[in-house]
Amino acid sequence: MKSLLSLSTLLSLYLFSFFFYAVTGCPPPGSSLMLRDGTIIGEHAEWLRGENGTRLTRDEIDKRSMHVISGKAGFGRLWEGNTAIYCFAGSVSNDDRTILRRDLTAAWELWTTAGIDARIINFREATVEECEGPRNTYIQIVVPKKDSLSSSLGNTGTSRMTLSTNPDMAMGDRVGNYAHEIGHVFGLMHEHQRPEMWSTAYGGTADHNSFIWNCANLADYAEVLGNADEETKTRRCQTRDGAAGGLMDSKSLSATNWLPVPASNVVVAGDFDMTSIMIYATEAGGYALGGGLRAPVYTLANGDLLHYNHAPSAGDIAAINDLYPAPAPDPQPCMLYDACSPFRTAYEHIKGCVNCQQQQGNHC
Ligand SMILES: [Zn+2]
Repeated sequence: MKSLLSLSTLLSLYLFSFFFYAVTGCPPPGSSLMLRDGTIIGEHAEWLRGENGTRLTRDEIDKRSMHVISGKAGFGRLWEGNTAIYCFAGSVSNDDRTILRRDLTAAWELWTTAGIDARIINFREATVEECEGPRNTYIQIVVPKKDSLSSSLGNTGTSRMTLSTNPDMAMGDRVGNYAHEIGHVFGLMHEHQRPEMWSTAYGGTADHNSFIWNCANLADYAEVLGNADEETKTRRCQTRDGAAGGLMDSKSLSATNWLPVPASNVVVAGDFDMTSIMIYATEAGGYALGGGLRAPVYTLANGDLLHYNHAPSAGDIAAINDLYPAPAPDPQPCMLYDACSPFRTAYEHIKGCVNCQQQQGNHC
């Protein structure tokens, strides 16, 4: 293992992990990267572009994102007609429906304002009739009892959005949070899980990690790995499969939301996009330090913090447009007189009248 934090450091960090909350939480304002034991992580590390080890400046960062390959590796398929529609589960209260309708609409407006053409790609509430349709035609929205935010990637056949209405979650911005979840609904994945940002030891494709990864600061680390031996802690913090757990592991570790997705299962375009709405802030998912602060879970390799972006980037828009291109114009358009035309009867009637007028005058 080539970790930037030694296991003993991880263990000492774990000892401070007395509090753990849901996976996502309120980002602390301006928290420092000095850990409780005085360690400053990433102080002298360099920013690396994982794929070839070259340095990458902010100016060089292109704006693209990562998305699923339709139906691959358990991911969902693309939405029919480029449109994702949602229905509320029966358990969602009227008050929550009011909040969700308003803020999901506002969240979708963030996407259209940023460049999605709603005439080509759409996200909206389903009609009553549509909600009575087959389950694989809509997303079901549920509001969890314990705060959490998650969404199916694409149309899985039983797609679901789990949406807390607590405004203090994750970004501390409900509309921004929902816009991130809408990205998942259409098939976008977390930008920080791009395989070329992580070394092969972590399941990525690079020589070096482009992040400093502090798994022991995850909010659920103590709960899931508190009694585990060091080998297990390493294994479960190091790859996405390990974090997900197998037969031997009782619980999934939230590290699945940071560690890289296998390159063969996703489409990755352009370079890492710091401005993507699909990226986690440094403190997201960290255990609570008290006073609204959370422990840093990861940073860039040079120690720079990662921040939440509250609106989709140009790269996010490019990724969705890539997934859902405008349908090609029909090479054989339906003419008024064709059998496919809903106006054919009227057309035939008028044509009949014209013929009639020509032959018999105005007595048709
Ligand atoms: Zn997410």
